[in-house]
Amino acid sequence: MDLDGVVWLGHQPVPGSADALADRVALGERVVFCTNNSSERGVDKAATLVDHGLAPGVEVVTSADAVARLVDPSWRVLCLGGIGLREVLAEVAAEVVDASDGPGSVGVDAVVVGLAREVDYARIDHAARAVRDGAVFLASNDDATFPADDGLHPGCGAIVAAVRTAAGVDPVVAGKPHRPMADLLRERLPGGGVVVGDRPDTDGRLAAALGWPFVLVLSGVTRPDDLPVDVPTACVAPDLATAVAALDDWLPRGS
Ligand SMILES: [Mg+2]
Repeated sequence: MDLDGVVWLGHQPVPGSADALADRVALGERVVFCTNNSSERGVDKAATLVDHGLAPGVEVVTSADAVARLVDPSWRVLCLGGIGLREVLAEVAAEVVDASDGPGSVGVDAVVVGLAREVDYARIDHAARAVRDGAVFLASNDDATFPADDGLHPGCGAIVAAVRTAAGVDPVVAGKPHRPMADLLRERLPGGGVVVGDRPDTDGRLAAALGWPFVLVLSGVTRPDDLPVDVPTACVAPDLATAVAALDDWLPRGS
């Protein structure tokens, strides 16, 4: 289950989504929220979900979790990202230095880029320099934009593109629809599942990578004028509350 554009838009709940999901959870179904947003902490997202009326214990997987799986425990990592990414990296890497620390960028084993609202020229410079010097280049995701209640904002992919252009190196991307996130979800849900999301390019391609059905909702980035989309869809619905009724047709048996 995607979050931005499905459960909420910025800070505004999508009407009916939380109630529809709470009903499914009450039936004993497992819902794993999967978001490319790495700038906030997963626990904060879970708390927000509880504020929206979803039960405590909801599972949230972010692109920070997916990119952290690519980091070796012995590595010194330069992070250009938000608190959510920095905290997850600190749990898996030997040392995490912030991209704002110029001298700290010398001798790092990897550069990890996520959505960083405080991004500036110096941070891009330090990250690109480290990549040019041979550090592994990892990106939490490459989304061009993300939706908020006032429209689209530049996404992590816009910052990744700046570092990539300056360094002349392509990153390994971890989040939806790329393989590290697909591998993480396959481990979490070995019985299979259904992907619900608002973006064909991330959620739809993730579903294709997993071999699971894709339910497209039109409450986020994709508008009715954008149909048909260029990935297979099991169902297209105006919002999650409408789509959730159709999930019975697509959930794997026994899940
Ligand atoms: Mg979304």
